[in-house]
Amino acid sequence: MNTNELAASALMELENNFGAHNYHPIPVVLDKGKGVYVWDVNGKRYYDFLSAYSAVNQGHCHPEIVNALLEQAQKLTLTSRAFYNSQLGKYEEYATRYFGYDKLLPMNTGAEAVESAIKLCRKWAYEKKGLADNTAQIIVCENNFHGRTTTIVSFSIDPEAKNHYGPFTPGFIVIPYNDVDSLAKVVEENRSVAGFLVEPIQGEAGVYVPDEGYLKACYALCKKHDVLFIADEVQTGIARTGKLLACDYEAVRPDILILGKALSGGVCPVSAILADQEIMEVIRPGQHGSTFGGNPIAAAVAIAALKVIENEKLAENAYALGILFREEMQKFCLQSKIAAYVRGKGLLNALIINNEAQKDLAWDICIKLSENGLLAKPTHTNIIRFAPPLVITEKQLRECIDIIQQTIDAFE
Ligand SMILES: *Cc1c(COP(=O)(O)O)cnc(C)c1O
Repeated sequence: MNTNELAASALMELENNFGAHNYHPIPVVLDKGKGVYVWDVNGKRYYDFLSAYSAVNQGHCHPEIVNALLEQAQKLTLTSRAFYNSQLGKYEEYATRYFGYDKLLPMNTGAEAVESAIKLCRKWAYEKKGLADNTAQIIVCENNFHGRTTTIVSFSIDPEAKNHYGPFTPGFIVIPYNDVDSLAKVVEENRSVAGFLVEPIQGEAGVYVPDEGYLKACYALCKKHDVLFIADEVQTGIARTGKLLACDYEAVRPDILILGKALSGGVCPVSAILADQEIMEVIRPGQHGSTFGGNPIAAAVAIAALKVIENEKLAENAYALGILFREEMQKFCLQSKIAAYVRGKGLLNALIINNEAQKDLAWDICIKLSENGLLAKPTHTNIIRFAPPLVITEKQLRECIDIIQQTIDAFE
């Protein structure tokens, strides 16, 4: 029997029986996607309001991105970096111009790009800043999410992400998010700080938007103390928040920019870090690498994915529709006992659910939302993130706002 013929319940059984249980999915089995929609194995259609954690900003199966994948897949898929390939240089030129940096270092997943940024920052600190070997500290923020590697979970404060994965990598100082004074204190008192790694909006933590001016003030402190400002824009970057980068809101240009997720439009794993030559040059041949990083498929796909962002003005769309979403939802919150408030930027938003009476309420709402044709998932029990593909139209968004409001009304 073909797996497509298996019922949804049987397919869930397969994952449950043969897969590690490191996720707790909403019980829908998706089979097809197009633009803002996905379909389950029974042919039921949903609006996707997770967008694979903002990897599918360009919409599911965007024809131009899929074509780039197909064409390249039939020609050359992988060479390793032991040789040059005919796509990588073109992509590096395109992406460095697109984001305004001298150099790009290609990797595959977001976590790998964060790891690369940490390594680059430390090496820069020893070879350029002049710190004594093995003393470099990188400042990170409470409630950060930067991925799942051993080093990255070492500076997580989420016990679920961290517990029993030790011993942990040293060299990180955790400070509160959205707190310039804490950063000032550490960089003034500690001579061994090499970098400040920050999410411009904390996505996984529940879409925490820092105060206006926070990034700019942090950047200025970093400059004053010769500390690299490292922005993890894996989730916030590539038009999600209504600008190409969330840092653009404060005209901050990170010393190291970390990208992933939507860099491929969700078609294959593509991540990268970008920096100028005086930083990137400290990594020399043999000192860092990845078998798949910079593969010809990834390179072709990433160019296509970035072109779609520009050609379809997705940042502008996210900006305008984000305002509409928050206005409409805020109005709704004023008369709802369950929906407390909404926050976010562009089309990265979160609805905070009043779950005092019923702890699993946000989960239950998401189950009902799925029955009503809209997919979203709670984060940290009482927060529902709403992040549709950026190709969504005003008409579709208004329909989705109705679905969300009617679903929550049924719980009042
Ligand atoms: C998703 C995410 C990562 C990790 O990306 P993976 O591709 O899952 O390794 C890192 N940083 C941020 C901000 C993310 O949202």
